[in-house]
Parts: sequence; structure tokens; C-alpha cells
Amino acid sequence: MNEYDSNRILDLVKPIGYAPTDNPSEADCYVLNTCHIREKATDKVYHDIGRLKKKFRNKKKPMLLVTGCVAQAENVEMLNREKYIDGVVGPQSYHKISEIIKNIEYKKNKINSTEFDVIEKFDTLNLVKNSNSKISSFLTIQEGCDKFCHFCVVPYTRGPEFSRSFKEVINEAKQLVENGSKEITLLGQNVNAYEYKDQSNTFHLSDIILELNEIKKLERIRYTTSHPKDVKKDLIDAHKSCEKLMPILHLPVQSGSSKVLNAMNRKHNVSDYYKIIMELKKVKPGIRFSSDFIIGYPGETDEDFNQTLELIEKVDFINSYSFIYSSRPGTPASKLENVDSDIAKKRLIKLQSLLQKNNFKYKKILLNKSIEVLFENKLPEKNKYFGRDKFLNSVIVESDQDLTGQILEVKINDFNHNSLFGTLLFNKKINLEA
Ligand code: SF4
Repeated sequence: MNEYDSNRILDLVKPIGYAPTDNPSEADCYVLNTCHIREKATDKVYHDIGRLKKKFRNKKKPMLLVTGCVAQAENVEMLNREKYIDGVVGPQSYHKISEIIKNIEYKKNKINSTEFDVIEKFDTLNLVKNSNSKISSFLTIQEGCDKFCHFCVVPYTRGPEFSRSFKEVINEAKQLVENGSKEITLLGQNVNAYEYKDQSNTFHLSDIILELNEIKKLERIRYTTSHPKDVKKDLIDAHKSCEKLMPILHLPVQSGSSKVLNAMNRKHNVSDYYKIIMELKKVKPGIRFSSDFIIGYPGETDEDFNQTLELIEKVDFINSYSFIYSSRPGTPASKLENVDSDIAKKRLIKLQSLLQKNNFKYKKILLNKSIEVLFENKLPEKNKYFGRDKFLNSVIVESDQDLTGQILEVKINDFNHNSLFGTLLFNKKINLEA
């Protein structure tokens, strides 16, 4: 979502004469768009600012804005602690960024803009054309969260659940396709909680997917991140009826123990999760899953952890993110006693090696097979192109011709932790219309 927000910030500042630069040492204005989800996010921001100060030691100081969730969480504290910062701008206030920049330029005062103006934000953004022209683009349709998982800061930094107007979402998707995007990933902290009511209809995520499925030049649709509680029948059906909806779902489960899920306030249990997986497999044979896991959540026992390993084996996730639990100030879980850190580390190593074993087993099956790849860009290395298959795997091939924006068949020859490597099967062009 920060990538989407950063692109929109660029669209917003263009009218007041700002443009992105490839030469950061000459920037007039820095925007550090921050994320609060990882541990030590705030420290990282101060380290970045330290580097920036060094870079500009003998030069005119650039304007420095800290945007995103760290700005939201720390706001005035940041301005007091680090005088180099000219403004803090929360994720629901960045539509005011041009005004903020002008204010700092002329009045030289420090700005704290961290209100939850999400309706006004999207009203403003809807009026500014999305100029992003990437082959694969993000499109925010929903923000915020009402779930209040006990470990998470998102409900405090992004605010309550808000869904953009259906019409505006479709308009923006069409703009992206006109700009050249072939793939759109619909975004939201709880993307499948999307619900927008106008005078006569109530729209859900499935309605957006169905509508996007009809856009001729759009080839692929994805959505992230989903909450199991909001996976309803209409969304499952969309996986059956929309051929452009890719056959992979990132569905965070966090733990394989219902006891831990309850302690986390996740609002679903393990059997709810299995049920969703089974239903999706039934309507979309071949669909695969990825997930997020928190290891060592307060109160997690060996038995709970073993249930997580069991779930991983059963669902056979092809890609997942896993972290040791780390406490976030102000969350209910921060008041609980942590699991011994050595035990948590050992569990994480065990879990990650299982995930990796499954990932390698899956990739081995792809060797010598041909898969469809949407090529997104050329890599800095000579003649190498980067793309993704339907399951979001990175694929790298060599080619003398520009492959950007094309969906081509690739024979997989090799793989490593991050990517699949292959050769083009040029006699099997899927779509060469750029
Ligand atoms: S549903 Fe996701 S965003 Fe919301 S509180 Fe839980 S982990 Fe955070």
C-alpha cells in the first residue's frame, strides 16, 4: 500500500512543480514514506535521516517530510526529537501534501498533519489522474481495520475500515489500464471487507473483480490482504467465474492453533480456515495459497506450535512470510509475557525450513515445464527480463527482444530461493499486443 501511496504523492505534487529525481543528492524535498508493521520501524526512520544529514552536510538542507504509519504513530514526538524533519503526514492526510509543502516553503513552520481524513483523502485523489504506468499496478480500494487483532497497530495508524466508491475504483482501474497496466492488484488492509453502498446497491470485492474481468486490455487481477472472516460465498464464486483472477490467494492465518488465534483476537479458528481452503479448492482446482505466520505469540506452547506445522503441511503453502512475535507499543498483546526468545527462535527456524522445503518441492515440479509469465521490466543486467507467473513466482529469462508487457510461455530450467529461471518458448506466444 505504501507503494500505491508513494505513487499518489507523486501525482499530487506534480502540479506544484515537483518531480521524482534519480539523483537523491540534489533533491529539494525528501519524502520518507514509512511502514510501522515491522519491528524497529521508528529506529530505521532516524537512521535514514542520519544518512540524509550526512549527504547534505555541506549543502542546503532539503525539505524533509515523514509520511505513513510511523508519522501517524509518533507525530509530534518526531518533530520534537529530530529538528531536521519539517513535517509529519499520516497515511490519511497525504492528500494535503502540496499545501503542506507550500506552507513549509513560505512560512518555514513545522507541520503535523495526522488527522484521519480518509473520506476527504479519496475525494481529493479521485480528482487526480493516477499516472502510474507500471505493467503491474496496485490500486487501493479499502483502508483501515476494525478487527483489532491484539498484536497489530494498523487499526490505530490507518484508522477504521473505509471502502472507496465502486465507481471511482473502476474509473481508476481503467486509467491504469489505459496507462499500460496489464495486471492490477486490489489493495486494502482488509481488502475483502470492502463494502460500498450507494442509493440502490451494495458492492463487495467480488463486484469489483467481476467488473475488472470485463476490461479487455487487463490480463490479470489479484487482491491482497484478505482476512479469513471476510471470505464469503460471492468471493469464492468469483474465483470460479473470473478467469483473470489469478489462482493464488494470500490468506494470513498467523497460527495453526485455535487457542492462539483466540488469544490474538483473530475472529476465526483453524477449522474456519480449513473450510475456506477446501471451498476454494473445490471451485478452483489448482489454486494455491500463501500466508503469514507469527511465531512465539505470548502463551504459544509447543503443542500450539506443532499445530501450526501441521496446518502448513496440510495446506501446502507455496510462499509465506513468518516472523517472531514482537510487541508493538499500545497494543493489548504488549502487556503479555513474551515466550522465551531462544524457544521462539528455534521454532521460527523449524517453521521456515518446513516452508522452504515445501517451496522447493513445489518449484522442482516446475522444472522442464512451461508456464505463462507476464514480463514487467528489464533488469539492470544485460538482456535479462523479470516477470511473474500466475502464482506470483518471480521468473527471469534472457532475451534480445523487449519482453515488457507481454505474456509469454517460458520453460523453467532452474530456480533458487527467490526466483525461477527459464527460456522463452517463442513459438508459443500468448499475447504480443503491447
Ligand atoms: S486484521 Fe490485519 S490489519 Fe486488522 S488488526 Fe488484524 S492483523 Fe492488523
